[in-house]
Amino acid sequence: MKITEHIAQSSGVTQFTFEILPPLKGQSIHALFNVIDELMEFNPPFIDVTYHREEHVYKEVGNGLLEKKVIKKRPGTVGICAAIQGKYKVDAIPHILCGGFSKEDTENFLIDLDFLEIDNVVALRGDALSNETYFTAEEDGHRYANELVEQITALNQGTYLDEALLNSHATNFCIGVSGYPEKHMEAPSLDSDIHFLKKKVAAGAEYVVTQMFFDNQKYFDFVRKVRAEGINIPIIPGLKPLSTLKQLNMIPHRFHVDLPETLVKEVIKCKDNNAVKQVGIEWCIEQSKELKESNVPFLHYYSMSKSDNIKAIAKEIF
Ligand code: FAD
Repeated sequence: MKITEHIAQSSGVTQFTFEILPPLKGQSIHALFNVIDELMEFNPPFIDVTYHREEHVYKEVGNGLLEKKVIKKRPGTVGICAAIQGKYKVDAIPHILCGGFSKEDTENFLIDLDFLEIDNVVALRGDALSNETYFTAEEDGHRYANELVEQITALNQGTYLDEALLNSHATNFCIGVSGYPEKHMEAPSLDSDIHFLKKKVAAGAEYVVTQMFFDNQKYFDFVRKVRAEGINIPIIPGLKPLSTLKQLNMIPHRFHVDLPETLVKEVIKCKDNNAVKQVGIEWCIEQSKELKESNVPFLHYYSMSKSDNIKAIAKEIF
């Protein structure tokens, strides 16, 4: 079922949802099923599955020589989505990227999703590769998420890349896109980022999922600004409980997200990561309570494929 239909059927009740990562190559899917098993009691209407593009690594081949290899550390997004829909009878939402995909790859990926009766996709640009300063699109790929949304919308209208295809089947994907309450790291300003969000909506996006944030006011301000620009689609808040001391530096650095001073002080006082995890849970419970009171359609948790902290939060909220 489409996300928009889930919202229509929810009678205004906030629902629990979460995101998982495909396992590292070489791991089985069963550890992931264990995580999902632990969280199913909170009745998620959907589960997001991230997509991870290839990375370049250099392997020693002797005589001091290095060989450049392309590997995918976390393959399996489509297979996991199919497995989730079959096993748990909930919607699985694959993320799909511009990065690493030609338009033809994108079309074929979408055809697979359509055949698997996947009704929703989250369309994203993806990040630059570790050896790139800036994101580089494939020669025949998309440069920005709005272009990817345009391609999905075209397929929803039965328009394939080969326009000579006659009587072609129109897909029916509900398209989600990202939103950044504290602006995307490359955007010169929040206004500019919202300008491009508007392009994604004009291209056919039907809902937004936000980047993590630790100060609800940033989310409320973002929603207000986005609405003032005439964007009226649902904006689903994404939440991540802090769980390690390392994240205190990693999250602001990698995601360009601020951590409130009170939270930072609480984490600094912690003796170990168990204590940090507890602080993260308590902080996220307070954020969740306030967001739920503001009638958001879903609280969407970035689980990082771990269930214990998400379960502790969900128990208090749902
Ligand atoms: P875009 O919307 O294309 O924006 C990228 C930047 O370009 C922004 O600064 C924007 O302001 C600007 N911009 C946008 N359109 C234009 C335009 N037409 N012309 C000029 N400038 C423009 N990454 C993964 O690799 N896998 C995942 O599964 C994944 N899931 C995510 C889920 C969520 C909810 C979020 C918030 C992020 C996720 N990411 C994922 C990370 C994401 O890929 C990165 O943040 C990436 O750098 C930007 O992707 P985007 O879709 O937001 O890009």
